[in-house]
Amino acid sequence: MGHRERTCRECSERYTPTRFDQVHCRTCSDRLRDVHLIHDTLFSSPNQSVDRVAIATGLSIERIRDLAAEGALRAVPVGADMPTECVCPPGETGRCAYCRSKLALRFAEARYEASRHVGPKNGMRMRDTDRTRRRA
Ligand SMILES: [Zn+2]
Ligand SMILES: [Zn+2]
Repeated sequence: MGHRERTCRECSERYTPTRFDQVHCRTCSDRLRDVHLIHDTLFSSPNQSVDRVAIATGLSIERIRDLAAEGALRAVPVGADMPTECVCPPGETGRCAYCRSKLALRFAEARYEASRHVGPKNGMRMRDTDRTRRRA
């Protein structure tokens, strides 16, 4: 009986470790790994849409949405909290959360594309001072 049960450091569930240095249950290990992947992707370029992050991390959009809904993410990809379908009343498109976040998503995409297309000689210095000012 080499395998003794442990208590997960994250959720306090009992689990049987597969490695001796394991401190989280399977579910939490997976979640922490996925969260880390998402944070990494957003750290290198923020304002990415959930579709983009899904491609970059190899996770499904559903998985990213679930993590966002759980509140597991410090940085949430744009559109991750988007409902999956429109619930606007007939003839009043654009009012529900789905339509509003779709609009926000389009803005974020445009911003992301624009920031990628800025040439190094054009406005680089301005963007840097802008960024430090916003951080401070
Ligand atoms: Zn756990
Ligand atoms: Zn709608």
